[in-house]
Amino acid sequence: MSSFDEDLRSDMQKTSRNIKMLSQEELADELVRLGMKKYRAAQVHDWIYRKGAGTFEEMTNISKPERQVLSEHFSIPVPALVRKEQSADGTGKYLFQLHDGHTIESVMIPDEDRKTLCISSQVGCAQACRFCLTGSGGFQRNLEAFEIADQVAAVERMLAAESGACVRHGGAGSDPVRHLTNIVFMGMGEPLANLDNVLKALPVITGGKGLGFSPRRITVSTDGLVPGIDRLGKSGVKVNLAVSLNATTDEVRDRIMPVNRRYPVKELLAACRRFPLEPRRRITFEYVLLKGVNAPLGMQSEAEVSAEDALRLARLLRGIRCKVNLIPFNPFPGTEFRRPGEDSVRRFQAILLDHHYTAPVRESRGRDISAACGQLREQMAAG
Ligand code: SAH
Repeated sequence: MSSFDEDLRSDMQKTSRNIKMLSQEELADELVRLGMKKYRAAQVHDWIYRKGAGTFEEMTNISKPERQVLSEHFSIPVPALVRKEQSADGTGKYLFQLHDGHTIESVMIPDEDRKTLCISSQVGCAQACRFCLTGSGGFQRNLEAFEIADQVAAVERMLAAESGACVRHGGAGSDPVRHLTNIVFMGMGEPLANLDNVLKALPVITGGKGLGFSPRRITVSTDGLVPGIDRLGKSGVKVNLAVSLNATTDEVRDRIMPVNRRYPVKELLAACRRFPLEPRRRITFEYVLLKGVNAPLGMQSEAEVSAEDALRLARLLRGIRCKVNLIPFNPFPGTEFRRPGEDSVRRFQAILLDHHYTAPVRESRGRDISAACGQLREQMAAG
């Protein structure tokens, strides 16, 4: 071996690369370069994502010498759970610390027949929606693709451990028994502002040797970044789209969601109309009800204002295959906004139902455990 080769070799050893920065295909190329068989990449991916391995030693279907080579060249970062809160209604909130000290939240919301994990796509958020706690804290950084996928892997693993690790694998064919059923990008951050990494994370979340979710069980929620909506549509990933509309006029939307100044309601809805929908799929429009802003103010004019906004909403969405999620505002300390009363919410809903929309009222879950998105993290920061 020449001294040049030796130098190169010791350099490579000094810099052990984060294996999770590589897609399965990229890893396969690297492994071939290191003298291994290509299929090892799928095995390694299975270990690091589905089985949650944090070391190469535990990868028992890979030969010892190969494990040795792997550990010389790569590191496997795993997210650290720094806090978990469990709500009386079953909602679980997880606060993860990333390798650079930043923290992100994931929230698990159980329902009768599903367990949805709400994941983050950024540390903080630059969109500055006025009613959103994450938005008020500003933007720190984008999450890497592996930091997005790791939230799913880590929570899945914890749920498996809670329910008894032995049920982790099914019988014949050994399909994994998954505990989570749905994934929504509704945690911290704007996923379409970090679309490159979201698009890299999705194959890990959906891949057979990854976490195995069907794209139909995944929803990407945006505040309305029109070019991102178009790009997501063209990417062919076939995940569901949710759009946080939250207002029916540019005047109000400009005020509560700065993104509207770049992509006003008309342009946003045009992007929704051209978004390629699979048969029987619908776009979800989220509408956070803010008392006196996009929903009734008070007693006297209540019915009137309610009718105005709800009727306008029904008109705006005409012809789009969609449903509307009505979300009564979830207050947090220091906010100027208020949650409308139960009656106003029901009246708003009734108008949409009259116009043949599916329009469930989504109650914030886990209200006893810092329910609003970003709240757990905020509490930690406050000490
Ligand atoms: N940036 C993405 C995803 C994160 S926000 C988006 O805007 O869709 C996820 C959802 O929570 C959005 O529909 C948003 O309107 C809603 N939301 C944010 N803060 C809220 C609050 N305090 N109360 C109720 N809903 C809120």
